[in-house]
Amino acid sequence: MTKTHKITVMPGDGIGPEVTAEAIKVIEATGLSFEYLECSVGGEEYLRSGTALPDEAIETVNDSEVVLFGAVGHESVPDYITREVLILLRMEKDTYANVRPLKKYHIGKTENEYASKDIDIVIVRDNAEGFSLTHEGRLENSIGTDQRIITNFGAKRIIRHAFKYAEENHRKKVTCVDQHNWLYSDKLFRKNFLEVSRNISSIESKGLPVDVVAMMISRSPEDFDVIVTPNLYGDILTGIVLSKIGGVGMAPTACIGNNFAYFEPVHGTAWDIAGKRTANPIASILSAGLMLRWLGEEKEAWYVKTAVKELLAEGKVLTPDLGGCSSTSDLGNAVARRVLEMETERRELEDQLIDLNEGTIYAQRESIHTYKRFDVIRS
Ligand code: ATP
Repeated sequence: MTKTHKITVMPGDGIGPEVTAEAIKVIEATGLSFEYLECSVGGEEYLRSGTALPDEAIETVNDSEVVLFGAVGHESVPDYITREVLILLRMEKDTYANVRPLKKYHIGKTENEYASKDIDIVIVRDNAEGFSLTHEGRLENSIGTDQRIITNFGAKRIIRHAFKYAEENHRKKVTCVDQHNWLYSDKLFRKNFLEVSRNISSIESKGLPVDVVAMMISRSPEDFDVIVTPNLYGDILTGIVLSKIGGVGMAPTACIGNNFAYFEPVHGTAWDIAGKRTANPIASILSAGLMLRWLGEEKEAWYVKTAVKELLAEGKVLTPDLGGCSSTSDLGNAVARRVLEMETERRELEDQLIDLNEGTIYAQRESIHTYKRFDVIRS
């Protein structure tokens, strides 16, 4: 029997609902079974009900293993109010590993047209420590203060997460980015990096200061593989890489804890384009693909990633930020259609193989073998 995945959906504010709707369209096309629990949270919800995070939403999140998130924030609502939603998802649910795959998709070009310069960086950013959401700073008279905390426990677990990610995804190199020359919290981060990496010989490791990496990554982003870093540097480096991969509409995020994870686009509410049907849904669609992978649905996660790659290479359905004039839902529909075609294609091949099986047991064994091989090739 097919498993039904229960997913909490929090579209939130601004373009959050528009892009999340497209992500759901795409995962529906995989043919997997989902049950959605939709929660209204954020600035609009605050203006409606007086709270950005209603009790039902807290209960739903506490009963969930996975959340598909849009964005929260509203110009008429102070940030500290909408931040409650992020404090729940990040701090209370302890989703310490913020994994950001930043890949350059070739738009309107095939991969072969770009020989070597491929950008495929994964930033593993600490979501729990550094300038954390719960260590809020202060502004008193003419003095602004922020508190930055890094602990052995927090540093070690995010660094271990980065190496585990690198191992599981056949990555070759992990770079630790910090400012250990003069910040004490970063000295601790680097010390932990050296301790963890000392025991891992299969992956190259290196520590570099953030100012040097900012220069190197702007010049040759293709030289970087996995980066592990405290949260603020992770944000800044993400911004630099985004400028080289087609902008903020292209980057997905997985925020992973021990028994809970949430998935969101790197971009925020982008109110300036909300309701205009021009938002690029790719970041949200790719985030949903990361969610499928986290749920163990490897094949379907592969469909999503590959459908996006093929469509962008075709270059016919593109939102304005990518140089096209298609709408948010045109692009979402096109990705969903491609995912559906892939699944249909696979099923047809499976049926042909079952037909073949009507011969001898030997033939059946052969075709099962072929089918398995087919799956391996596709994933
Ligand atoms: P927030 O305050 O919630 O972070 P923001 O609007 O300040 O939101 P982003 O949402 O990251 O910041 O967006 C910055 C700008 O990038 C937006 O003003 C918008 O023009 C553009 N942008 C963001 N997301 C997209 C998208 N998915 N498609 C197209 N353009 C986008």
